[in-house]
Amino acid sequence: ALRAPPVAFDNSYARLPPQFFADQAPTPVAAPKLIKFNELLARELGLDVDALRLDAAAIFSGNELLPGARPIAMAYAGHQFGNFVPQLGDGRAILLGEVKDRNGRRRDIQLKGPGPTPFSRRGDGRAAIGPVLREYIVSEAMHALGIPTTRALAAVSTGEPVYREEVLPGAVFTRVAASHIRVGTFQFFAARGDTDNLKVLADHVIGRHYPDISDRANPYLALLEAVAERQATLIARWLHVGFIHGVMNTDNMTVSGETIDFGPCAFMDAYDPATVFSSIDRNGRYAYANQPAIGQWNLARLGETLIPLIDPSVDTAIELANTVIKAYGERFQAHWLSGMRGKIGLASEEEGDLDLIQSLLTIMQQQGADFTLTFRRLASVAADEDVTDFAATFHDPQAVAPWLARWRERLARDPQSSGARASAMRKVNPAFIPRNHRIEQAIQAAVEDDDFSLFEALLEVLAKPYDDQPAFAPYTEPPLPSERVLQTFC
Ligand code: AMP
Ligand code: MG
Ligand code: MG
Repeated sequence: ALRAPPVAFDNSYARLPPQFFADQAPTPVAAPKLIKFNELLARELGLDVDALRLDAAAIFSGNELLPGARPIAMAYAGHQFGNFVPQLGDGRAILLGEVKDRNGRRRDIQLKGPGPTPFSRRGDGRAAIGPVLREYIVSEAMHALGIPTTRALAAVSTGEPVYREEVLPGAVFTRVAASHIRVGTFQFFAARGDTDNLKVLADHVIGRHYPDISDRANPYLALLEAVAERQATLIARWLHVGFIHGVMNTDNMTVSGETIDFGPCAFMDAYDPATVFSSIDRNGRYAYANQPAIGQWNLARLGETLIPLIDPSVDTAIELANTVIKAYGERFQAHWLSGMRGKIGLASEEEGDLDLIQSLLTIMQQQGADFTLTFRRLASVAADEDVTDFAATFHDPQAVAPWLARWRERLARDPQSSGARASAMRKVNPAFIPRNHRIEQAIQAAVEDDDFSLFEALLEVLAKPYDDQPAFAPYTEPPLPSERVLQTFC
């Protein structure tokens, strides 16, 4: 029997009509073993950490259901690499329920990899340990970087094999999200011509994520606008830290504005806008610099689903939705530029700033400069320190000298003191990102030697990405040529 007291679940999604989900309990696993339990997050959720700790492996493997849980698999559709699939759904995820956290925010608790559901199609409903550790590390790193994201509550190994290209140890990941509602959830009902349930979904999302717009004259248009705004800031933030999601299918884009579904995602080392890591992204559809445009494409798909709710006249509805989709481009550009100004230490705005930023990026690309190190070290240059380390991130250290001269000229017209500027830059330019080769090393040690020390070390260092942490200096380094990881798998 469980020692944990009942959790104060309030399962609003399970109260929606039956078409929204299927009831599905997790399938027990052979030998669950706790890898990690995020006690800080558990406290934030108002859970009884001391009681949960006693049964953590059983609970976060799905072998025991938390009292009050109402396990369901959510229905959704989605465009995968541009092709519409009318039914996807949680094929390897089960929502346990929703809790109100200590700040009064509603949060989903979901198991990923708990066994088959009615949406599994040919899949086994399971997850391998590698992707579980990757999602744990990267989602917590994103959170520490200050970027909206789903969170990692726990990881458990199952003691069972999963069969992919090779046989791998199985694991279950527990994810926390503002909600798991996706662009693809709207597409699920739109594809069925089910406008009644589409409206139920839209009203649920407005109540849950955008309560301020419920009294607007056209709440459904306002919903599209609100999602566009959150996605514009989110994707700008990704670009500011060199993040590549890897699978920006419409079923992997939330309407809450949180980053979700860390599959073959990775952070870029040397700056190259065409960077792709995902082994399944053969045409570079989801390359680093394509992400803003894909965000817009996905929002257009959301806009299409909302047409019947926006206006009784289809033409009018399309025109209104189009205006919002077009404005997303400007919203994104404004967020991106503002963040990039901060990255090069500007507190004021001038016409020529975009060009100044773009010319730095061009030199970085031509000179193989590491994205993270370049900006972090530029903060030291701003503090009037030596340029040697900064310039050393470029193949030819001389190549960036003319740009530095231009930048200094611009700084002369910016109001901040050099000390204030350097410290502001260090708050937006991380020293530590979850570098891909480090993640792969951590996964390899876990899979081959049951050794989680590298995983633990990464979690520790990535919890404070903007601090210097001299003890962890090697973690700031890009991979050696022999360490480079070119492909990621989901
Ligand atoms: P993803 O690419 O991970 O976002 O998943 C796309 C779709 O495939 C979703 O409907 C997933 O639930 C489903 N899926 C992925 N992996 C599995 C699996 N091992 N078993 C069942 N369904 C899966
Ligand atoms: Mg149902
Ligand atoms: Mg997905």
